[in-house]
Amino acid sequence: MKTIRLPDGTTIPALGQGTWMMAEDRRVRSEEIAALRGGIDLGLTLIDTAEMYADGESERLVGAAIQGKRDQVFLVSKAYPQNASHDRLPRACEASLTRLGTDRLDLYLLHWRGNVPLGETVEAMERLVDAGKILRWGVSNLDTDDMEELVASGGAACATDQILYNLTRRGPEHDLLPWLAEHAIPTMAYSPVEQGRLVGHAGLCSLADELGATPAQLALAWLLARDNVIAIPKAGRVAHVRDNRAAADLTLNASVLDRLDKLFPRPKRRVPLEML
Ligand code: NAP
Repeated sequence: MKTIRLPDGTTIPALGQGTWMMAEDRRVRSEEIAALRGGIDLGLTLIDTAEMYADGESERLVGAAIQGKRDQVFLVSKAYPQNASHDRLPRACEASLTRLGTDRLDLYLLHWRGNVPLGETVEAMERLVDAGKILRWGVSNLDTDDMEELVASGGAACATDQILYNLTRRGPEHDLLPWLAEHAIPTMAYSPVEQGRLVGHAGLCSLADELGATPAQLALAWLLARDNVIAIPKAGRVAHVRDNRAAADLTLNASVLDRLDKLFPRPKRRVPLEML
């Protein structure tokens, strides 16, 4: 499994597991837990969740899935922007830890930018690090100008920017990805299969067929071929988790990368960071 180095030297797998839309339907709860646990056993040990997902139920589901496996997992959760203040972040973090059934997060992210000044969020995050509640912190959905401001506000220790990035969302390649690479901050690509829409893309399907792969694998392998990028597909079914894991073993040669470039050209001009 390819690994990515965080700014503090920790290495994490380049392919993890997302959990948005999990824990929405009790009838599939055991299947979702089995998918996450199976993923951990296959090396997809980075799990991304958020207090927002299913109103905290996604964190509870992750808590159940990592029981007995906590030390193998790199656990990521996110705080609502309105909770990213001195007063509220410790409470939000504690509530996430309780739902997850753990004593620390490996990474805690600001979910998107709100009204709390970035400098205050940085201080609140650093206090949680000092208290041992989180091991490191990062952000999500911040474009280049926000990242500049974050670093200028004392946020140089930011461990990642989790952003919408996949074959159909290549806008960040203009300036955000180069900026993050220059600052040695890994990019965490969310919705890497465009919430499932990419698996029905005719051109991607036919190229995947030629390669004996699936379209999801091709979309993930394209992300994994890039430097500094972590992908966190969400898969509630064990078969999808297995399919995704195999993407980490798929190497794309220059001609395949070129064909993907033609099928999914990067926008000609810079576009503001998109969000789902
Ligand atoms: P995604 O991972 O691109 O797509 C998930 C969908 O693709 C699900 O319907 C899943 O089906 C399907 N799928 C997964 N693997 C598949 C495969 N091998 N073959 C066919 N279908 C497959 O979308 P996402 O959930 O939006 O993004 C991933 C994670 O990123 C989220 O879960 C969340 O943790 C994070 N995220 C963060 C933000 C943010 O603002 N920071 C925003 C969006 C997402 P099944 O579930 O049925 O297996």
